[in-house]
Amino acid sequence: MKKEIHPNYRIATVTCSCGNTFQTKTTVGDLKVEICSKCHPFFTGTQKLIDSAGRVEKYYRRYGKSENKNENENQEKEIKK
Ligand SMILES: [Zn+2]
Repeated sequence: MKKEIHPNYRIATVTCSCGNTFQTKTTVGDLKVEICSKCHPFFTGTQKLIDSAGRVEKYYRRYGKSENKNENENQEKEIKK
């Protein structure tokens, strides 16, 4: 390897927003991530919607999650007002 052209490759701690931390090696230092293998639905097998803007709720309100059709129709009318 050439001298003095390689970045410093060091151990860094990655901190996830779920509280999980693990170590890896990077050239940029410690990292913060929003999702990791401990909390991502693909790895956990559970579905946990991350919905900060309330879009999922808005979808359910508009198109209905419950099977009660009348209730859904009433909700749609409320939205159109
Ligand atoms: Zn995580």
